[in-house]
Amino acid sequence: MRKKFIAGNWKMYKSPKETKEFFAAFAKEMDASESVKKAIADGVEDVAFFVPSISLTTAIEAAENMPLIIGAENAHWEKCGAFTGEISVPMVAEVKASHVLIGHSERRHIFHETNEETNKKMHAVTDGGLRAVLCVGETLEERESGKAHDVIKGQFLDGLKNFDAHTTAEKVIIAYEPVWAIGTGKTASAQDAEEICKFIRDLASDTFGTECAEKLLILYGGSVKPENTASIMSEADIDGVLVGGASLKAESFIKIAENAL
Ligand code: PEP
Repeated sequence: MRKKFIAGNWKMYKSPKETKEFFAAFAKEMDASESVKKAIADGVEDVAFFVPSISLTTAIEAAENMPLIIGAENAHWEKCGAFTGEISVPMVAEVKASHVLIGHSERRHIFHETNEETNKKMHAVTDGGLRAVLCVGETLEERESGKAHDVIKGQFLDGLKNFDAHTTAEKVIIAYEPVWAIGTGKTASAQDAEEICKFIRDLASDTFGTECAEKLLILYGGSVKPENTASIMSEADIDGVLVGGASLKAESFIKIAENAL
């Protein structure tokens, strides 16, 4: 049985002050939510937040008494150097964040991050002892021209180049996020999301073997809300959700964590 992984991606929202306020509100929601508390304690569900780098330390401190995962939204592949504006994996590890999002579509499409760069980052994160969430997904144009599977296959295989069959499932999580569904209010239907997540699991099986594929966590992301979480999570190959907008409010995110169970 794979663990459910419910993650928020805050993008460029929430300053350190707002982060502190959010976790004060989230602590109350957690306290009131017996099902989420139990699921985390029983090892059935993980709840994670990927936050802006300037708010990482505040998030770690503010969430200190809650069993939450805190991660960074990006990290450079070099340990240090002349890379103005970037943060490195050792920096993320030093503040005790445990996960890093890699290759989010906003990194790929706004900042022109390539598959080769995501691969270098994936290795930097996992070599640095942290867990990486590799985001993959097609644009609307790619979907409409029948290229979705090829795009996702390329992002998956290039992003995971030189990973091995034995440790990939422990070190890596995959998030399928169709670009046309991110921040648009257009969710992929549960069946469409499942079709691609199953395709990713089959790719993992062909590349790393069935044992790895069966253990690998695959998330869906793209306009996930409390109302559509249960149907998305009912699909066999979807183990969790990556949530942008609806993770910014404590009440909606705790409902997503509840409805995922
Ligand atoms: C995201 O940022 O990864 C995302 C899926 O955003 P939203 O839920 O707002 O579509």
